[in-house]
Amino acid sequence: MNRNKITLTFRASSRAAGLFCLLALTAGVARGQTQVKPDTALRMLNAQQQQFEKGIVNVADNVFTAVSYHGANTSMIVGTDGVIIIDTLFGPASASKAAEAFRQYSDKPVKAIIYTHSHGDHIGGASAFVGDEKPKIFATKSFGSAEGVNKAVDPVKQKRNIRQFGRNLSPSESTNRGVAPAGTDDSDRGKGFLPPSVTVPNDGLKTTVAGIELEFVIAPGETDDALFVWLPKEKVLFAGDNFYSSFPNLYAIRGTAYRDVLNWSESVGKMAALKPHVVVPGHTMPIQGQQAATTALSDYSEAIRSVYDQTVRGINVGKGPNQLAHEVKIPEHLKNKPYLIQFYGSVPHAVRAIYAGLLGWYDGNPTTLNPLEPRIKAQKMSELVGGTQQLTEQMQSALAKHDYQWALELSDHVKWLDDADRTLARKVKIEALRGLAAREYNAPNRNYYLSYANELESGQLSEVWF
Ligand SMILES: [Zn+2]
Repeated sequence: MNRNKITLTFRASSRAAGLFCLLALTAGVARGQTQVKPDTALRMLNAQQQQFEKGIVNVADNVFTAVSYHGANTSMIVGTDGVIIIDTLFGPASASKAAEAFRQYSDKPVKAIIYTHSHGDHIGGASAFVGDEKPKIFATKSFGSAEGVNKAVDPVKQKRNIRQFGRNLSPSESTNRGVAPAGTDDSDRGKGFLPPSVTVPNDGLKTTVAGIELEFVIAPGETDDALFVWLPKEKVLFAGDNFYSSFPNLYAIRGTAYRDVLNWSESVGKMAALKPHVVVPGHTMPIQGQQAATTALSDYSEAIRSVYDQTVRGINVGKGPNQLAHEVKIPEHLKNKPYLIQFYGSVPHAVRAIYAGLLGWYDGNPTTLNPLEPRIKAQKMSELVGGTQQLTEQMQSALAKHDYQWALELSDHVKWLDDADRTLARKVKIEALRGLAAREYNAPNRNYYLSYANELESGQLSEVWF
């Protein structure tokens, strides 16, 4: 088999069931795991758009999921004398549109709301589902601990969040957010949040609401405060954000505390063990059919575990994060599964997160105990190639050869040199970022590269950032 050629079988679930989209992809000279030819990257991201087709999916008798009313999903279960809502979107504007769409299937009062976890895109629109009634609102004991309690670095996290999701990109630059559409209206964030009133204990909870049997299972993963919901009679599983159609975001480049990767794998393994007939993800289309749903969950758990195990094995033979980020891969038999393509999560980023999560920043190599400061290193690099002029030429040559990562790394040296053309270095960095972005099908990387290029070009980034 030609090793530059990978064949991807893309199968959209639910409404698009039966639709096969076969993409023959030819990987170019790209370095990153998620870098392909520009037209291929766009084609893949366009294919992923099928996961965000707006509408109500009837996932089982009396169970409905609203997809793409905002970035995440919200679901309604219709019981005897009322309904249950699982997750409530980002704010009241999007939630009221989903609530209205649900009403065509049932106008019974809301008896319960369940938050799968505390991320803003799942909790901000609760008030839009509720009239005069006072529903029970279920969440875990640790609800609210999703991002840790440390707000000290919020100013920079906000900047990075805008880049990761491409919030300031123009429509022509936008594709999607990996597991969510681009261009959501985020102006009413959290304005409809209603606080939880029932705590799910750490050993879970079985209860009945509106005649519907419900089981809550504590399921740390993307966040420590996550749970999943199981309907034992209907065999429907609501996974929250521990499952969606993309390799999971084991680390978010907007900046997060360590997400316990082993817990995540185990939580998804527990879901698979239930052999659901439908799995409703926190984002993207539900997967229907026992075989499809169960296989997806067990594959997902296995892929996470494999990335963790490969990283740990590498650590224990003395390899550092830079090397492991290039070596660790999704196992061959799983890598082309549609729900494991790296549209949102990235294996190299996950490897670095696992490394830092287990050992902290130090890679064990004494060279890195006290490395040269960037300005001194840049001066030495310049001397090495014969001066600033030569280093600048190498930077330009890398860009001309579309060796974008190397062009970026050289521009980061050139910017420190007092006798360098810093305007030129900045220009090269902008072009290299756009070159990398065009080849990326990992949406957070793509959005980050493009956003950063725009910020550099417009002059809004201070010198510290360049
Ligand atoms: Zn989410």
